[in-house]
Amino acid sequence: MCQYSLEYAQQCDAQDELSHFRNKFLLPKDGEGNDLIYLSGNSLGLQPTITSEYILKELDDWAKLGVEGHTKAEHPWLPYHEFLSRNMANLIGAKPGEVVMMNTLTTNLHLMMVSFYKPTKTKYKIVVESDTFPSDKYAVESQLKFHGFDPVDGLILWTPPEGEELCRFEDLEAIMETQGDEIALLMIGSTNYYSGQLFPLKKITELGHSYNCKVGFDLAHGAGNIEPDLHETGADFAVWCSYKYLNSGPGSLGGCFVHERHAKNDTLKRFTGWWGHNKETRFNMRHDFEALPGAEGWQLSNPPILSMAAIRASLDVFAEAGMDRLRKKSIKLTGFLEYLIDELMDERIHIITPRNPEERGCQLSVQVKNADKSLHKQLTIAGVISDWRDPDVIRVAPVPLYNSFEDVFIFTERLKNILAR
Ligand SMILES: *Cc1c(COP(=O)(O)O)cnc(C)c1O
Repeated sequence: MCQYSLEYAQQCDAQDELSHFRNKFLLPKDGEGNDLIYLSGNSLGLQPTITSEYILKELDDWAKLGVEGHTKAEHPWLPYHEFLSRNMANLIGAKPGEVVMMNTLTTNLHLMMVSFYKPTKTKYKIVVESDTFPSDKYAVESQLKFHGFDPVDGLILWTPPEGEELCRFEDLEAIMETQGDEIALLMIGSTNYYSGQLFPLKKITELGHSYNCKVGFDLAHGAGNIEPDLHETGADFAVWCSYKYLNSGPGSLGGCFVHERHAKNDTLKRFTGWWGHNKETRFNMRHDFEALPGAEGWQLSNPPILSMAAIRASLDVFAEAGMDRLRKKSIKLTGFLEYLIDELMDERIHIITPRNPEERGCQLSVQVKNADKSLHKQLTIAGVISDWRDPDVIRVAPVPLYNSFEDVFIFTERLKNILAR
């Protein structure tokens, strides 16, 4: 049983076999040099201490080798993206050939829809969860328009029942039952950015496929947070970013998953560039396009090595910790946060995120009724970095790599003190 005390939190940290990973990160500090309580790893993950070393190595090789770094750098730039594939694939439960780091999330989403959104006159609609991230919604709507459809008619929202915040699988089944014949694509966030709800990815995929729809997931809030077992779900594609839970720096490259069964499917349309072309003849320049098998075949350009160096550093930290151990700690850490918030017994507080650990990642979305943005401001003044969503929700994400049980306790105490004012 948990206890509401600093001693108990410190005892949990002492028993945590991953607690030393906190020292592998640079923690933001306040003006006096005290550690801030950083609970925004769902917006921008913290910097691993080894990242600068990995980036400096590439700068150094560039300085010493110039163009020859493509083949002679210690980690040659030509195949650099390949150094990321195995660790990245392990984190999300994919095969290395199913994964590539390239572009950014929204770009990858468009590239995937070029290949997997294949509307006909009668089967053209796209389903998204109702509180989908704006960029995803814009992307999906623009694809509908691009193909000549009205986005109001073409976009189906999977919404929670009236007066509730969480989506129910039965409601998605009902949508498919009534409109499945008109639906071409299900594009669902694996873990919803607002509510923190983790959707049943495999069930959604099976449901979509049973109506002959393609199924893709946005793992922006999933990669490095949950274990999505992507290959097993059977999803056609997935996209994510690397700057949230993947700690690879602001605006760093995104990721893309294409299921193995599409690896050599040359009937798929795609937008192409030279980095997706056969490596043997890429530099001969005069060959017709010949796609590399697997996710790599969707690459367009030669990628930014400095960004990839940051990703490589972060993935090395993840590999050392192990996603299975991280997820176990995460369930405990977020469970502790949930317990502490419940112990406040404040009637204004309502946790939107599912109570079942299997249906959420590390984030809790905490609604504080009648609060406004000044609550967030006071938390910030009190040294807590969290995220505010209008009208009244604080999102806090204790990240198992660098957050402690003590962090979670201090956060709750500061929230309690502010609410008591
Ligand atoms: C963070 C996030 C994005 C951001 O997209 P970028 O292309 O990386 O700017 C998109 N979708 C979701 C669900 C996100 O959480």
